[in-house]
Amino acid sequence: MAEAPTATSERPRIVYSDNGPEAPYPLQMEGEVISGFGRGSKELGIPTANLPVDEAQISWIANITSGVYFGYAALQLPASHPDIPSAAASSTNGDAPKKYHIFPMVMSIGYNPFYKNSKRSAEVHILHKFAQDFYGAPMRLLLLGFVREEKNYAGVEALIEDINIDCEVARRSLDRAAWMPREGVVGMGQGTLDGSWLVRE
Ligand code: ADP
Ligand code: MG
Repeated sequence: MAEAPTATSERPRIVYSDNGPEAPYPLQMEGEVISGFGRGSKELGIPTANLPVDEAQISWIANITSGVYFGYAALQLPASHPDIPSAAASSTNGDAPKKYHIFPMVMSIGYNPFYKNSKRSAEVHILHKFAQDFYGAPMRLLLLGFVREEKNYAGVEALIEDINIDCEVARRSLDRAAWMPREGVVGMGQGTLDGSWLVRE
């Protein structure tokens, strides 16, 4: 059976204005990376780092629209992790190595099947190719905008196609000065956005 054509190709590749995030963003959450639902995201080439969601601590998450969001993830990788950017790893001159590194991300906020879909779930795909997993790593998220609502897909290919577009939308939307943290983003550079919450001690 032929699949109905998706509107995929018509999706905009950049969202929001060049002037930076708009209220209610930025939204923040943090926690340690946990195991997910074993849906095999990694096998699809789209691993998602899952965070526990404590609705009592994150006031905004209970009522937010389910769907795809974008922004930055700051990760505190263990000293032995191969993806620690070299400038930080080789600080031999008495500087403390940087604790958090900022990466661009897309994330899905949905419902957790383990709790009969009554509790929110949060899973983050970082736009960086990691040589090693980072389960247990402290992760902070700065959500800067909304990409699209949750959708049901006829097949996994359509899903992957849409996720690839989500990644492109995030990359292009974040790649503007007012959307890029002053603190610097791995693989991107520096802008004028206040990202101090992501890297604070
Ligand atoms: P799980 O069901 O346990 O979440 P996934 O297949 O979604 O398994 O893989 C997620 C794990 O992959 C993350 O917890 C992280 O340790 C690792 N990982 C590797 N690269 C990435 C990436 N680019 N973005 C997110 N997680 C990644
Ligand atoms: Mg996952």
